[in-house]
Amino acid sequence: MDYGIKEDWDCGHPIAYRGEEPLANVDYPRYFAKIEELRHIYGGRIAIKAGLEFGMQMHTIPQYRALVEKYPLDFIILSVHQVEDQEFWTQDFQRNRSQQEYNERYYGEMFDLVKSCKDYSVLGHMDLIVRYDEKGVYPFEKIEEVVSEILKTVIADGKGIELNTSYRRYGLKDTTPSMDILKRYWQLGGEISCFGFV
Ligand SMILES: [Zn+2]
Repeated sequence: MDYGIKEDWDCGHPIAYRGEEPLANVDYPRYFAKIEELRHIYGGRIAIKAGLEFGMQMHTIPQYRALVEKYPLDFIILSVHQVEDQEFWTQDFQRNRSQQEYNERYYGEMFDLVKSCKDYSVLGHMDLIVRYDEKGVYPFEKIEEVVSEILKTVIADGKGIELNTSYRRYGLKDTTPSMDILKRYWQLGGEISCFGFV
């Protein structure tokens, strides 16, 4: 889900499309009905959990908070997919900024989010911005301080991070997040990590 970019299906007006893709969030009633159906069929054999990935921004926190209160979720990935409603994959976010500016703004937003929002399980693909960085990999030394502060907050809150395996598909040289970030997480005492695929 990506509030600020996408809308809910019940928003009251027609959903816009980007090519074939509806700019809509998960259809929550359908999703939870399906989870219930699968629990009914397989519940005796496997535990089926309900989880969502939130593409969060500071100004969309209230929309996520309302969602968390409305629906029972077992697992939430907090991700930063866009900042100021500008997407990374389209370069809208990076276009009028220097590499230093967009990296600082990206990690700054992430730091504000983990300080402000505790409704999540793991922090997703922490250096996602690398995937869409046409200027190459921004040195770890330059983000080390803010990344460390983000990780300390995540650990102190009893949350985890996600190792996103998509770096192989995208042909990146490093993991997502990078080995530097993973090492720092473990050095700081982080213990909770999970694998993600998209
Ligand atoms: Zn994501």
